[in-house]
Amino acid sequence: MVAHLGLGALSSCVPCTVLRKPLAMAVLRDDPIQDWILTEGKATEIKRISTVGGGCINLAYRYDTDAGSFFIKTNRSIGPSMFEGEALGLNAMYETNSIRVPRAYKVGALQTRGSYIIMEFVEFGSRPDQSVLGKKLGEMHKAGKSFKGFGFDVNNTIGSTPQINNWKSDWVEFFAEHRLGFQLKLAKEQFGDSTIYEKGERLMKNLGPLFENVAIEPCLLHGDLWSGNVSADKDGEPVILDPACYYGHNEAEFGMSWCAGFGGSFYNSYFESKNMWFR
Ligand code: ADP
Repeated sequence: MVAHLGLGALSSCVPCTVLRKPLAMAVLRDDPIQDWILTEGKATEIKRISTVGGGCINLAYRYDTDAGSFFIKTNRSIGPSMFEGEALGLNAMYETNSIRVPRAYKVGALQTRGSYIIMEFVEFGSRPDQSVLGKKLGEMHKAGKSFKGFGFDVNNTIGSTPQINNWKSDWVEFFAEHRLGFQLKLAKEQFGDSTIYEKGERLMKNLGPLFENVAIEPCLLHGDLWSGNVSADKDGEPVILDPACYYGHNEAEFGMSWCAGFGGSFYNSYFESKNMWFR
């Protein structure tokens, strides 16, 4: 029965489902996602809900409505903080007005347990042109400035692993403590291997000389830029999604890109726009 449809009832898709506003009042109390879509989302009917595959952590859905399509992710065990971090990251990148990212509209708690995020639905095409992607990413790094140093306004997650973003004025300190140090601590807690932890500690203490005479300006990073988070829309425009944003050294972006498939044309156009940025 349409009026009782919730995500739990959904299989792979609900074709031709029509949820109209007057009928939907009972639904509105039960389902914060449909509630938002039928109010602030400005839809008067939800025509179809279908599942979207390809994610690593969450369940994903496409809602087609008379006000366009929305993309929704839900997580049944984690509260809204993970999606709040994702939404702040998406909207920070969006505001740089450079590379295309989906706009995040709403984050909240599910009725029983867990959380959801509602965002702009992007129709994906094929892979982006690497040189355009490099140029656009360079533009985002250039436009995404921080006046608070290195960090982000909230802690967030990379995949589902927590990421600490407390502000620091010094990049080496930030990277040693919040990135290397924190990951090493998690690994030690989980696997009990103190050898790697001790080696990592030595590295953390000796990072300084590697950055001597390097001017590092904090810039907005996607933070998890591997191939699964890079695509192109149907017009071929590069799109990046599912971020773990923070303000950091621009080259830290490429720490996650060992499996992004970036080639020479990507790096040439990225560093071309970066050189223009430092001139
Ligand atoms: P997870 O958080 O589980 O890793 P993703 O953010 O990677 O999930 O999203 C899962 C899949 O949904 C992606 O592989 C992508 O194909 C699709 N997707 C992500 N964001 C959007 C969007 N805004 N519009 C349309 N499809 C999207």
